[in-house]
Amino acid sequence: MRFSGLRVLREGLTGNRGWTAQWRDPEPQAEYDAVIIGGGGHGLSTAYYLAKNHGMTNIAVLEKGYLGGGNVGRNTTVVRGNYFLPGNSEFYSHSLKLWEGLSEELNYNVMFSQRGVITLFHSDAQRDASARRGNAMINQGDDAELLDRDGLRKLLPYLDYDNGRFPIHGGLLHRRGGTARHDAVAWGYARGADQRGVDLIQQCEVTGIDIENGRVRGVQTTRGAIRAKKVAIVTAGRSGQVAAMAGMRLPIESHVLQAFVSEGLKPVIDHVISFGMGHFYISQSDKGGLVFGGDLDFYASYAQRGNLPMMEHVMEAGMTLMPMIGKARLLRSWGGIMDMTPDGSPIIDKTETEGLFVDCGWCYGGFKAVPASGYALAHLMATGQPHETAAGFRLDRFRSGEGLIDEEATGSQHNLH
Ligand SMILES: Cc1cc2nc3c(=O)[nH]c(=O)nc-3n(C[C@H](O)[C@H](O)[C@H](O)COP(=O)(O)OP(=O)(O)OC[C@H]3O[C@@H](n4cnc5c(N)ncnc54)[C@H](O)[C@@H]3O)c2cc1C
Repeated sequence: MRFSGLRVLREGLTGNRGWTAQWRDPEPQAEYDAVIIGGGGHGLSTAYYLAKNHGMTNIAVLEKGYLGGGNVGRNTTVVRGNYFLPGNSEFYSHSLKLWEGLSEELNYNVMFSQRGVITLFHSDAQRDASARRGNAMINQGDDAELLDRDGLRKLLPYLDYDNGRFPIHGGLLHRRGGTARHDAVAWGYARGADQRGVDLIQQCEVTGIDIENGRVRGVQTTRGAIRAKKVAIVTAGRSGQVAAMAGMRLPIESHVLQAFVSEGLKPVIDHVISFGMGHFYISQSDKGGLVFGGDLDFYASYAQRGNLPMMEHVMEAGMTLMPMIGKARLLRSWGGIMDMTPDGSPIIDKTETEGLFVDCGWCYGGFKAVPASGYALAHLMATGQPHETAAGFRLDRFRSGEGLIDEEATGSQHNLH
């Protein structure tokens, strides 16, 4: 089924009886060429690009819950290509380009809204760092504009520019950044993969990984054993646990990250804004809710809920930046489990077990990476070679210390992990 304006019109006039399920609900087969563990954004996009770019269609995505029920459906949907360091910048730049054509590519409206991402600076030193980052972005072929205080005030008149502790000196504007509809991204990739013959199997938890003579043979699941020539672990916050099934100890710590949404308001914030002096960022959803978040809760956990101290910190930062936010009522808060690496950059690599791959370590930035991650992992699984945009995301950099990337989009701040 193709979606189009004409189709919507016709269905509207005929009682909406023609819409069909977006993907099949197949029984798992005994054997596949490849199995992807995890039906989040990265697992689904990997399946899609394996089928589309490499003609591999005898594959299954195994999801222990429902598709898109993990972090891909829990994040604050910020998409940007403003990474600074080589290794990351080319990858996120590629991802942003894929985002720009994604709705057409998938024939599914992912509601990608390039409303601009603005990162504020509050001192001369921060302005210099922003200029440096902007230059790196431009050199990478992306966009960046350094706004002084007056330029910024024209766009964001409601900020507290003269705050005693954190006066605002300006901001780095990245116009092509913005937000997207998280569920739609998962659903669009799922539908595209299913259309190409991929089996999407929900309520199917992987409980073991079968390895013989250094080679992966398949997986054990709550729905029986499945043989596979290739297996990819794409389980975000659960990566450490799933990799342990293959006897691996990943350089990953899992932490909770919280997000918040206010009651629906009339349009007031038409960019994504990041505070430069604390962990707070905000945008407004299409339904009117102010969507905002901050930093990790600083303890390792697999609980998908957060704690009050971080909530207080985020609210304080919000009030510092835009005191008007204090009048809005908070509607909901939630948490997701982040797969944090020591250098803040991801892993897309083979493992020492032949045929076993990992894609993890997305920290708090993995939503924007969904298209390029799937693209790169599919390339690696199909060809055996890393994709040129993801060649730095090697697993062994943490053992050898060579090739660490040290980036979390704010520069190297290990102490903040
Ligand atoms: C509050 C919050 C805000 C965020 N904001 C942003 C943002 O603004 N921008 C951004 O770029 N990123 C953001 N992120 C990060 C981003 O959401 C994640 O990095 C990304 O979604 C992780 O990849 P994924 O989509 O594949 O993960 P998931 O959706 O978590 O997918 C992993 C899947 O694996 C499944 N799984 C786990 N174990 C098993 C098993 N044994 N068997 C089968 N299946 C299994 C899980 O059920 C899950 O569905 C945010 C995250 C959170 C929590």
